[in-house]
Amino acid sequence: MSAAAESADVVIVGGGPAGSALALALADTVPPLRVMVLEARTAASNEYRPLALSRGSSLFLQRLGVWPQLSAAATPIRRIHVSQRGRFGRSQLEAAELDVPALGYVIDYGLLSATLARAAAQVSEYRSGLRVAGWAAVEPAQVSVERDGATQQVETSLLVIADGGGMADAETVDYGQCALTARVACDPPAADIAYERFTPEGPLALLPDRGQWALVWTVAPARAQQLCGLDETDFCAALQQAFGHRAGCFTGVSHRASHPLQLRRSARQPLPHTVLIGNAAQTLHPVAGQGFNLALRDVSELARQLLEAPQAAGSLDWTARYLAARESDRSRMAGFTHGLVRLFSNDIAPLGVARGAALSLLGSLPPLKRWFARRMSLGPHG
Ligand SMILES: Cc1cc2nc3c(=O)[nH]c(=O)nc-3n(C[C@H](O)[C@H](O)[C@H](O)COP(=O)(O)OP(=O)(O)OC[C@H]3O[C@@H](n4cnc5c(N)ncnc54)[C@H](O)[C@@H]3O)c2cc1C
Repeated sequence: MSAAAESADVVIVGGGPAGSALALALADTVPPLRVMVLEARTAASNEYRPLALSRGSSLFLQRLGVWPQLSAAATPIRRIHVSQRGRFGRSQLEAAELDVPALGYVIDYGLLSATLARAAAQVSEYRSGLRVAGWAAVEPAQVSVERDGATQQVETSLLVIADGGGMADAETVDYGQCALTARVACDPPAADIAYERFTPEGPLALLPDRGQWALVWTVAPARAQQLCGLDETDFCAALQQAFGHRAGCFTGVSHRASHPLQLRRSARQPLPHTVLIGNAAQTLHPVAGQGFNLALRDVSELARQLLEAPQAAGSLDWTARYLAARESDRSRMAGFTHGLVRLFSNDIAPLGVARGAALSLLGSLPPLKRWFARRMSLGPHG
């Protein structure tokens, strides 16, 4: 270890929601671990991005001790209505059928990030305003940090990359689509139902968010740009035309933003002293609202392995075990969201009929519907 380098037992690159959640999950390890979080931002993100948290995720956030700070701003989803525009077939999933208070909750990414980062800063060395310029999966793992024009080295026996993707090599599928997100006012106000509507342009989700709708509308990049440029009245008219009147009359819009969509999966061979979690490991299309839910399951498994075998943490066997434990959930979620996008994102007539049949089948077979609803709200072991 070089004299100038700093060190910690666990170094987390990226203090976003996944990195912060991991720092919190490691707070009670015995013996205590020295955990350092390196976050590029200097202030909390003020981006409006609605996240649908599964019930399993809300229970995990409860275990981490942050749910009381989040729950007041989280809107419960008690029903999910799935349909396709201009064709038959729809399905409705209800919390009451699963005997749970809610299928999930809608929360703003900015609030979630800021709350988790504040809590993580209480239990770890959370350093903001530090951009990691590079890392090396060697023994010990090395991180180069930039600050005020100077570069500093940090060393660790377990490096966790939680930077949201960007620094690691990954297999990438570019969907050639953008998710347009916005907050939409409505008459009557949004209550506790979430709509997922498959349109020829792409899936359109309306999630209830404190009396308004959180919109996630998948469209071609040029269309996203055009929709972002419309005045409020024209935007509401365009949305009304695409969605119909099932959710009421759209009366205003704020916080419009466009996000390019990709499926990214990082290389799957184990690295010495290094693992990737959250969006750094896999970035999904938001069609099923599963990215952060999957990230929390990464966090949960990593914390479990660290508690179980802290001495071996970072060895190639240990990182291989972690990857193996996460492989099936990650592959299934990537396959599921990718399949949904492919099945529902074109207007070929026979496929439209098949989609309608699938939705009707889901709606008419209670056990199948319950299985689907449990998987979506509680994760793979639901
Ligand atoms: C439109 C849209 C809708 C979505 N809807 C849902 C949903 O309904 N449900 C759901 O579960 N998921 C959803 N997601 C996915 C969800 O946003 C991500 O899965 C989640 O943000 C992943 O968290 P993360 O911490 O891994 O990455 P990020 O949120 O990207 O955080 C990464 C952090 O790392 C920091 N960082 C980056 N580079 C560096 C560096 N070099 N040095 C130091 N710090 C760095 C960043 O500043 C940031 O704070 C959606 C995504 C989009 C785009």
